[in-house]
Amino acid sequence: MSAERSRDSAELIAARAQCEAARGVPGACLLAPQTQIIDQIHESVVTMDLGGFITGWNRGATQLFGYTAEEAIGKHILFLYADPDAEDDSEGFDGAFLEHGGRELEVRRRRKSGEVFWASLQLSLMRDARGDPCGLIGYLSDITARVEAEKTLRLQSRIFEHSEESILITDPERRVLSVNSAFYAMTGYTEEEVRGKTTAFLRSDKHPPHFYDEIWKHVETEGSWNGEIWTRRKSGEDFPSWASISLVRNRDGGLCNYFSIFTDITERKKAEERIHHLAYYDGLTGLPNRTLLYKLVDQALVEARRHRLHGAILFIDLNRFKPINDTLGHAVGDHLLRCVAERLRSAVRTEDVVARLGGDEFVVALFDITRREHAAVVAQTVLAALDPPFVLEEHELKIGAAIGISVYPRDGFETEALLRMADIAMYRAKQAGQDSYAFYSHDMNQRALDRLKIETGLRHALEHDELLLYYQPKVDIASGRIVGAEALVRWKHPERGMVSPGEFIPVAEESGLIVRISAWVLEAALKQAKAWQAEALPLTKVAVNLSARDFSPDLADRVKALLVQHDLPPAWLELEITEGMLTHSSEDVIAMMDALNAMGVKLSLDDFGTGYSSLAYLKRFPIDTLKIDQSFVRGIPEDGNDCAIAGAIVSMAQRLGHRVIAEGVETRAQLDFLNSLGCQEIQGYLFSPPVPPEKFAEMLRAGKTL
Ligand code: C2E
Ligand code: MG
Ligand code: MG
Repeated sequence: MSAERSRDSAELIAARAQCEAARGVPGACLLAPQTQIIDQIHESVVTMDLGGFITGWNRGATQLFGYTAEEAIGKHILFLYADPDAEDDSEGFDGAFLEHGGRELEVRRRRKSGEVFWASLQLSLMRDARGDPCGLIGYLSDITARVEAEKTLRLQSRIFEHSEESILITDPERRVLSVNSAFYAMTGYTEEEVRGKTTAFLRSDKHPPHFYDEIWKHVETEGSWNGEIWTRRKSGEDFPSWASISLVRNRDGGLCNYFSIFTDITERKKAEERIHHLAYYDGLTGLPNRTLLYKLVDQALVEARRHRLHGAILFIDLNRFKPINDTLGHAVGDHLLRCVAERLRSAVRTEDVVARLGGDEFVVALFDITRREHAAVVAQTVLAALDPPFVLEEHELKIGAAIGISVYPRDGFETEALLRMADIAMYRAKQAGQDSYAFYSHDMNQRALDRLKIETGLRHALEHDELLLYYQPKVDIASGRIVGAEALVRWKHPERGMVSPGEFIPVAEESGLIVRISAWVLEAALKQAKAWQAEALPLTKVAVNLSARDFSPDLADRVKALLVQHDLPPAWLELEITEGMLTHSSEDVIAMMDALNAMGVKLSLDDFGTGYSSLAYLKRFPIDTLKIDQSFVRGIPEDGNDCAIAGAIVSMAQRLGHRVIAEGVETRAQLDFLNSLGCQEIQGYLFSPPVPPEKFAEMLRAGKTL
């Protein structure tokens, strides 16, 4: 405390005692002329006695507080305080003076209207003629605007410092004045390192120099610029940022500063890329998906139109994927699809697009072919690439494909149409068998429509009881008697009459409807068998044909439940499966067959000899009966080849302990030859075609023999 102020303080305390006595004589220590002068002062001036009671109040004070002199004089000064009880009111009446003497204080006061405002207060001691302290004089002025501005500034500087976005402020020459701590975190530069430098050190080579010139030009003309920009860290690494650059002008319109705010958007960019990838690429193989394929082909067609180019779409459908996926499980299926994708990718040129549509369907799009035949060459290359078996874990899988080709502009002008046509051609290639390709043609379109009709019709048939079963006898050659029946499905079409399974079973297999059909056939055949058994007809088994798709893991359980439901011994049921189903069979399928076999259900291998299966691995499957395909029976006894094949099948079956049945036996000569080979059973028109159940029962009752 200064000497002067301590003197003032001591005097104040002494003088206050005197003043207590003089209370009630307002303005005692202020002379009239002085009062007038004070009144003329613009500033508000308030005088008070040493006890704090107001003794003088000028016009300025009236203006500032809203109280007239009459209202104010005589009141204690505390009535002007914003918060008279506040302990932190640092200029608390006398303490303030003692503490601060004549120093300027910032205080909060209340107007008559109740409004609180910030005031600057300067207090000084008044002395009487003798020089003794007799009161205080306070000069007040409204500083609300200034205090608010300071508060805003403080707030701004906090925001500046604590912002997560980098902030950089430069002078008009774009030399750095200040940066915040986020700037350091983002770029690695401290304020000391960059102060005074131009902002060029943040530039990335990813933008050409004129890019920056254009930004600055934009800022000059428009006042600000926002956008994505590559920024360089101190480490030399570039990162994508979102920048907002503005200029600040002073009141006269002169340029004072530039400030840039930028955010690191690396993560957002990555997320965007991930989303883009998810939207346009197949998650399993990484190939473009259907959406991207459409986009790419659309673009290519625009180019092709402009430059009169030719293009082609190859629609690729894997041949034996579904049974592999169903039997070996999805993990193997997924792995296989990835390997297929790799082979396809490396079979074609980099500028050709390879996409996966889903499932086991792929597309190769060729955007610049000179002749239609080039598409055929690529199709052959693709087939050749898929030909070698895929070795996954312990499995060796031969997959193959069917390829349909549509050509721009011959077959169509739009992506959608070209893909549809290639798809149709692919079905045609499938029908042609094994691994082949086919170009689209107009009559294919008709066939595709027919197929679609069949599929819709079949759904309808399943719901409206249009399916029925015919039965064909299986005859024991030695006794000449019927020993079994093969259930063969028929479709009684409301308009077309009886439709052959040869027409609708392949459609049902492709569309997946076969699973529902098989379920229906199994149920109907067992019901029929039970009826015959109950009637004590001389029959011991009923055979049902199954497709690869029926081999779901729950097959054995379903069969068991059905047998229980119909109260039939398992030996009554024979399941005819085709060789194709064994070609890629896994341990799971073998286990399922073993389960069926253990239950007592018989398995027979239909159309034997037409597939690719090697005879050697037949040992692995619990097969009871081999069924010689009718294509070999047809040539017997004239065709030497057919005879040899039939002979080989029978002798091998005998060695492996399988029974043998020949199907499609139409003549006695065929029967005799087969009998001479040692074949045990026959099935065919020689004895009976497939017939409705009533007719079949009649044959049984009549004891019909060969
Ligand atoms: P498949 O199982 O090999 O059945 C034998 C087919 O040969 C039957 O044709 C039968 O009518 C015919 N056939 C019988 N004896 C002779 C003969 O002496 N000469 C000639 N030329 N043909 C004869 P269908 O009934 O038209 O069945 C054709 C194929 O449709 C069946 O071949 C089988 O693969 C399939 N199929 C039939 N019913 C079903 C079924 O319920 N489920 C499944 N998955 N497939 C079935
Ligand atoms: Mg059969
Ligand atoms: Mg057959």
